[in-house]
Amino acid sequence: MSDSQTLQWQALGRDHHLPPFTDYKALNAKGTRIITRAEGVYLWDSEGHRILDAMAGLWCVNVGYGREELVEAASRQMRELPYYNLFFQTAHPPALALAKAIADIAPQGMNHVFFTGSGSEANDTVLRMVRHYWAIKGRPEKKVIIGRWNGYHGSTVAGVSLGGMKAMHGQGDLPIPGIEHIDQPYWYGEGADSDPEAFGIRIADQLEQKILELGEERVAAFIAEPIQGAGGVIIPPDSYWPRVREILARYDILFVADEVICGFGRTGEWFGSDYYGNAPDLMPIAKGLTSGYIPMGGVIVRDEVVETLNEGGEFYHGFTYSGHPVAAAVALENLRLLREEGIVERVKAKTAPYLQARWRELAEHPLVGEARGVGMVGALELVKNKRTRERFAEPGIGMLCREHCFRNGLVMRAVGDTMIISPPLVISEAEIDELIAKARQCLDATARDVL
Ligand SMILES: *Cc1c(COP(=O)(O)O)cnc(C)c1O
Repeated sequence: MSDSQTLQWQALGRDHHLPPFTDYKALNAKGTRIITRAEGVYLWDSEGHRILDAMAGLWCVNVGYGREELVEAASRQMRELPYYNLFFQTAHPPALALAKAIADIAPQGMNHVFFTGSGSEANDTVLRMVRHYWAIKGRPEKKVIIGRWNGYHGSTVAGVSLGGMKAMHGQGDLPIPGIEHIDQPYWYGEGADSDPEAFGIRIADQLEQKILELGEERVAAFIAEPIQGAGGVIIPPDSYWPRVREILARYDILFVADEVICGFGRTGEWFGSDYYGNAPDLMPIAKGLTSGYIPMGGVIVRDEVVETLNEGGEFYHGFTYSGHPVAAAVALENLRLLREEGIVERVKAKTAPYLQARWRELAEHPLVGEARGVGMVGALELVKNKRTRERFAEPGIGMLCREHCFRNGLVMRAVGDTMIISPPLVISEAEIDELIAKARQCLDATARDVL
């Protein structure tokens, strides 16, 4: 059914391309889907199918596709100054203006930004910065970082190590030493019969147990996503973050909130930390920073940490493309759109409540054990038995559902048997209706295959 142009592209993929997170043999047997253009919340593939992108690319296209303002910002900057570095005691206006624009929306007391090229590099920066910080304070033994099982912090060596994806750890002898993991606050999947709030407390308390087990004098930081994204949109019970805050207040360790997904409006607040009332010391960012139009990441740093870094001599860390002027110009324009068009406020007041109400209707579906979400993210747990939460014995029902989605013109991502969404923040109520109708159709088609 593929046309000849599509077949040619698929052949190029097979012959020359190694895509990320892919089973090469399986993909080559089937042929990749070629996406050729996009507008608003829609993608088009090479065969002319229109697809509603309920994942905003990979959690990043917050302002939607086709924003000329971002194209203009990039081309203007490319003409003016396409590249210069920030190493030689030099800087350029876009990076400086962007640092200020980020400080303006960041939580109070977080006024500096270290720029990187991606979220993974941001988390590598976190690892180096927190260890450097404690070394400056004369406590070099304080270097263990506590992360969470099934957390995601990227795919570089530090990113994978800080993350808690066991399949990723299994390739390449990771995590590196000095990183420990505690359980995730995944009530539906791991809370069994417990009350969700009691479960949230119990899981949060593992942080304190781990700190005591390791010795506070060895622990440098705790890192967590406000809401786990790639792990399956894991939304902690309400009791979880307040308890974590209580624990962190008792110990002298840094709190790193990985805002790569939650940042820039995803929850209806500028940052997930605002949504939960958390006050982290470092916030890795990427994705929505540029709405994915061009790669860029960074780490937003609390003033007290900056004051310590100021006393530490040279920080031997950085990237050729740290604060790249074109990326910075695009990010600045992206933040202007988010601000001046009131996109984050509209998510909070209007479209997120609407999406969440409609998304929860899907809980009535025979395949769906739980429909949950916050702001512009959501998850559906596919189960064989809604009462006992029993999963399907044969793996791959999530992938089956994802295939039905693509065929029906909808991108939903599968994380095991959990279907997840994270649409562009500009999605309208009519487009949300279309998303829900399509999701229901795809669930029906999946149910016909397995029930
Ligand atoms: C995507 C992601 C990363 C990694 O970002 P890349 O730009 O892919 O390197 C890190 N942390 C979280 C929470 C992410 O979702």
